[in-house]
Amino acid sequence: MNYRHAYHAGNFADVHKHAVLALVLAHLSAKVTPFRVVDTHAGIGRYDLAAVEAEKTGEWTAGIGRLLGEDSAPIPDEITPLLAAYLDAVRAENADGVLRWYPGSPRIARSLLRPDDRLIAVELHPEDTQALAAEFRRDRQVKVLAIDAWHALKSLLPPKERRGLVLIDPPYESTTEVDDTFAGLRAGLRRFANGIFMLWYPIKATASVLDMQARLAQLEVDKLLISELVVRRPDGDGRLHGSGLALVNPPFQLRAQLDVLLPFLAARLSQGKGATHRLEARM
Ligand code: SAM
Repeated sequence: MNYRHAYHAGNFADVHKHAVLALVLAHLSAKVTPFRVVDTHAGIGRYDLAAVEAEKTGEWTAGIGRLLGEDSAPIPDEITPLLAAYLDAVRAENADGVLRWYPGSPRIARSLLRPDDRLIAVELHPEDTQALAAEFRRDRQVKVLAIDAWHALKSLLPPKERRGLVLIDPPYESTTEVDDTFAGLRAGLRRFANGIFMLWYPIKATASVLDMQARLAQLEVDKLLISELVVRRPDGDGRLHGSGLALVNPPFQLRAQLDVLLPFLAARLSQGKGATHRLEARM
């Protein structure tokens, strides 16, 4: 396990993923009954954008820096409500108004829980697990588990609330991870068929990503929303140039919201020619 999210926290892919995560949780909150979030690849929860890892890549400057950085342009009025929950979660980490700390998925999820909602944050990397546990120490709404995500998708589902979101955000560093992801997603869906599942995947000019898209097209589910954000043309080095999200059982209104949000994000987070978005729904 070599992947460390600290190098990438707050980049364009995080903005895409976390903005959609916040929208999904806002929809879950619309009903009074409690829900549960299971975050299968949680990371450390909070990232220091001034730390050596973040400074080394500077990726966040072309991500959250374009929305809340010192020189970032104002956010248009029609976009403000769509980003409000997400950006409020980021602002809450930076009380003095200077962007330094970036919340990862478990902290964003935590910021949107009501008193009866629960979060289970799963992380396998030993150091990251410790950091995550420290982050949520004494928080009775959050449980941190140092278990394998693929095991978690079997042992933690269905949640007792019978409503909620499962976020699957693997690093895709091992050759078996695409296979593991689809096996895990299928196992999760067998146990929690009406749950919302949100899977992140990288968009790179590689065979494994094209394979990923083909596999998503073959997924045997009735309701699927694909949200893709591409920030530039592939440059031949196989680096990440886009971010994909596959949502099974997405909230009904999410598609219309992303129809407005994605073109804005593609323009604001553009890194050159070829910035675009794709939204595809099976309902
Ligand atoms: N979801 C986080 C966020 O949005 O802030 C970022 C997660 S990062 C992309 C992927 C994380 O998965 C890493 O922290 C890594 O240590 C962890 N990980 C890798 N393989 C895992 C596994 N089999 N089970 C649980 N966690 C795993």
